[in-house]
Amino acid sequence: MKYTTASRAGLVACHACSRVQPRVRSKEPQLCTRCGAVLHRRNPDSLMRTWALLIAAAVLYIPANLLPVMHTSSLLGAEDDTIMSGVVYFWTSGDWPLAIIVFVASILVPMLKLTVLALLTITAQRHSTWRPLERTKLYRIVERIGRWSMLDIFVITLTVALVRFKSLAVITAGPGALAFGSVVILTMIASMQFDPRLIWDDVDTGTGDAARANRNTSGPTT
Ligand SMILES: [Zn+2]
Repeated sequence: MKYTTASRAGLVACHACSRVQPRVRSKEPQLCTRCGAVLHRRNPDSLMRTWALLIAAAVLYIPANLLPVMHTSSLLGAEDDTIMSGVVYFWTSGDWPLAIIVFVASILVPMLKLTVLALLTITAQRHSTWRPLERTKLYRIVERIGRWSMLDIFVITLTVALVRFKSLAVITAGPGALAFGSVVILTMIASMQFDPRLIWDDVDTGTGDAARANRNTSGPTT
């Protein structure tokens, strides 16, 4: 299977209205013929922006896991819980489905997302031609998970509500919850900033074939 890209075929798509149109090479920024938005061949500074957001998310991942996400105060005393101590608490108290949900949603998924996005950004930056189809699929998975990222926040909220209902304890969100929310949001924006088309830019078109096909579609040249 050989590939070509719209960019190589001299086409550019509008970010705003998605219209595909021929690229005009000039010093002036090219505007969309339909909606007037500025056209970019690829998301501008995609890799740099993805990196900045990823690094910020990775840094905040540390306080998100070390600082307490929940503060419980009851007649028996006050207690601070980090994500991990919450998981351990649920596990030992027999609520293992809840323990698994919190562990997967709050520890495993954010870590995997950060790792996958870092891998995609590194390979795109190095103009890698390694498994483009698999990398595109990985990107799609990360994007799809993005919609469910708030599940973790939902779980925390649900737990707070449940514990409040069960006991007379007063539960408030700790500073870790803020860091955690920031990790989720930063990772979501990072995956939006990454331009998956970069994956295909350096993939070999099988020399000649694609170029010949392009020439054929743009009319006879000989
Ligand atoms: Zn447009």
